[in-house]
Amino acid sequence: MKKIAVLGSTGSIGTQTLEVVRAQKDIEVTALAAGSNITRLEEQIREFHPEIVCVWEEEKAKELALMVSDLPVKVVCGMDGLIAAAVETDAEIVVTAIVGMIGIRPTIAAMEAGKDIALANKETLVTAGHIIMPLAKEKGVKILPVDSEHSAIFQSLNGEDKKAVHKILLTASGGPFRGKTREELKKVRIEDALKHPNWSMGRKITIDSSTMVNKGLEVMEAHWLFDVSMDQVQVVVQPQSVIHSMVQFDDGAVIAQLGTPDMKLPIQYALYYPERRFLAGDRLDFWSIGQITFEKPDMDNFPGLSLAYEAGRTGGTMPTVFNAANERAVAKFLNREISYLTITDMIEGAMKGHTVKENPSVDEILEAEASAYDYIESRW
Ligand code: NAD
Ligand code: MG
Repeated sequence: MKKIAVLGSTGSIGTQTLEVVRAQKDIEVTALAAGSNITRLEEQIREFHPEIVCVWEEEKAKELALMVSDLPVKVVCGMDGLIAAAVETDAEIVVTAIVGMIGIRPTIAAMEAGKDIALANKETLVTAGHIIMPLAKEKGVKILPVDSEHSAIFQSLNGEDKKAVHKILLTASGGPFRGKTREELKKVRIEDALKHPNWSMGRKITIDSSTMVNKGLEVMEAHWLFDVSMDQVQVVVQPQSVIHSMVQFDDGAVIAQLGTPDMKLPIQYALYYPERRFLAGDRLDFWSIGQITFEKPDMDNFPGLSLAYEAGRTGGTMPTVFNAANERAVAKFLNREISYLTITDMIEGAMKGHTVKENPSVDEILEAEASAYDYIESRW
């Protein structure tokens, strides 16, 4: 039995990870962690019997402990609890399916404990890639991408010479507002932004997909995961989401991974790599797809992507400021406090006001995060 810990088990990636576990029947879940959904956690505990469960909020953790007092499970809370869930059991793989920069510390702790990471939490790599990637090498642990594009690149690179990579071709659906002008985007409501044309995901990443900030974060994620420069990552809009990403090699060959938009494939691939297992679900039918089309991304109407390139090229604490400003701006948009276009205005403003610190430590990353939050609170 393979053993895994799932951080963020009640979310979109977390629940799909548990669906894979349920279908495969040879994975043991030793630890779970989530923010506050204790009803869902109780169901998961009763089905998967983890040894340890973390609930971020202390009061909710106390409530959950009472709800499952008939079972031999340890309930913990807060950051110490999250780290305990990541390291205390003998899980070989930690699935990081938490949303946001809060994933940094538990991911580092898990790696230090020698665990492989099935990485969905892209914010960790964006802000701390310069710490995560060398640490993986030092500890001999694998970073297995769960993000569908990065899984596609990882699959396309299988057996290839990494030094012969010329370009990463990162595909994007373009989101629900592809083709819209800034004037039209002014009127966007939360309900419109939460409708992704092809993928069903958590709320924050769905908003990020609509602003193209998600693609920007993914460019930085690819830069760290595959050791290429920001400029070697080219975004290609492919609205049907059939091609999940591609790699172009020095000899001009392009290798791609294609599939239906189902996150269970990249999740399962990460959990069983390099083995491929049967996965139930729809298969691509090229006769009914008919055509796959390509476009250049619209960086003028969607500045989220150009700001991400700028942040990634600048490096140091700038990607943290990009990410933190976006996290806060999206939360405010979802709370109906700001308009849609203000999201990228906030990112731009926070980046302009920031003095970059090179090669930041985790504490310095968290300081840059706090300063981006301060900027936003003081200006908006
Ligand atoms: P989600 O909002 O559906 O789920 C987030 C999970 O994190 C929930 O279980 C929540 O309880 C947990 N969480 C939040 N704050 C927490 C805290 N303080 N302590 C412990 N747990 C906490 O999000 P999602 O869509 O599943 O995305 C998770 C991550 O995966 C994000 O980084 C996202 O960018 C990435 N990702 C998601 C998808 C997707 O299809 N959903 C695809 C690629 C990458
Ligand atoms: Mg993705």
